[in-house]
Amino acid sequence: MKRTGGLAAVLLAAALSVNPGHAQSEKPGVEKLYILNCGEGVAGDISRWSPGVNEGKSMDFVDNCYLVKHAQGWFLWDTGVPDAVAAMPNGLAPADPKAVLWHRPKTLAAQLDQLGVKPSDIKAMAVSHTHGDHTGNVEMFPAVMLYVQKAEYDWPGANNSPRFKPEHPVTKLEGDRDVFGDGSVTILSTPGHTPGHQSLLVKLPRTGAVVLSGDAVHFKSNWDNRGVPSNNSSKDQTLASMQKLSETLTKEKAQLWINHDKAQRDGIKMSPDFYD
Ligand SMILES: [Zn+2]
Repeated sequence: MKRTGGLAAVLLAAALSVNPGHAQSEKPGVEKLYILNCGEGVAGDISRWSPGVNEGKSMDFVDNCYLVKHAQGWFLWDTGVPDAVAAMPNGLAPADPKAVLWHRPKTLAAQLDQLGVKPSDIKAMAVSHTHGDHTGNVEMFPAVMLYVQKAEYDWPGANNSPRFKPEHPVTKLEGDRDVFGDGSVTILSTPGHTPGHQSLLVKLPRTGAVVLSGDAVHFKSNWDNRGVPSNNSSKDQTLASMQKLSETLTKEKAQLWINHDKAQRDGIKMSPDFYD
């Protein structure tokens, strides 16, 4: 009887000591995700993104950045159109009139400031790829670790210029990467739009899993029809990456949030509101 009581006491003590720790270990790594306005524009001819479809038609584009609050620190996904564009009354016109003329209704700096987040508070960052509507403000965070695919980093820019400042701290990836080691924020290698394009899987505590597309797809009809833009670096890789994302959505029961899709953006909560 005494032995049994002792055992019960030990089990009770174990239960009491384990439970708080267990609850803590189940605390989600990701706490919140903010969607920031990182540009708005008009595409001159959307058939550039969907060859043979809607030729000559213009379409509104948006550009999002995403700020993730993780227990280990802030993580920024994409940096959008350069903040300097906010001061251009006519916006930033593209070299190719079929491409997107960008405006910056709000700066990234002002939106971070509104949240009380300083650029130096960001623990790590990544860009989906190195087009100017995604890398426009990378150097607002000169000391922040940048996660980028090696294939993207090594891809020669205009006149063979580097894609990033050589002194910017960088982790070059060759495939997927679990950023915080707890499965809550995972960079997915999705080449095709560019040689080292990547997307992001984020597991939110209440919203569930979301995949941030980057430019693996630009708008929903291209996703539904597997449309591949004419200026992508590889059609085969693009289709394989869409298939990978499709399988990820199924496996993780995830939503797909398409960066440039204005119709979708108009239906989601923008910062300072957030998803948790
Ligand atoms: Zn883009």
